[in-house]
Amino acid sequence: MDFGYSLSKSSTMKIENLENSKFKALAKLEPDATKCIGCGCCTASCSAGVFADMSLRQILLSLQRDCQDKYLPMLQNCMLCGKCMLVCPRGINTRHLILSICKIYGIEQ
Ligand code: SF4
Ligand code: SF4
Repeated sequence: MDFGYSLSKSSTMKIENLENSKFKALAKLEPDATKCIGCGCCTASCSAGVFADMSLRQILLSLQRDCQDKYLPMLQNCMLCGKCMLVCPRGINTRHLILSICKIYGIEQ
């Protein structure tokens, strides 16, 4: 029967199937990288985000999906204050994770 519309193709992405060697290297160094659920609490509480372009949520999601080039420069706005660490429901040591991301992806802090 024609209802005049159709269902969209699923946009589900199996992250574990992506060829993403840098993220795998990051996850090995910092297993917390795989724990992020993209809730955005870190971004909502970010001290730097009030004044500059900084979203840890966007950065982590882009790393998992291997489309990080546009988002990685945001890390230069991070002050490493650790406020995001206090609100993360997954208990991720975000401050340490940020330092590891900089190390693996060659970002100068
Ligand atoms: S450590 Fe960085 S990302 Fe986290 S709240 Fe502070 S400035 Fe924002
Ligand atoms: S608060 Fe934690 S789980 Fe939520 S987006 Fe940030 S790092 Fe991921």
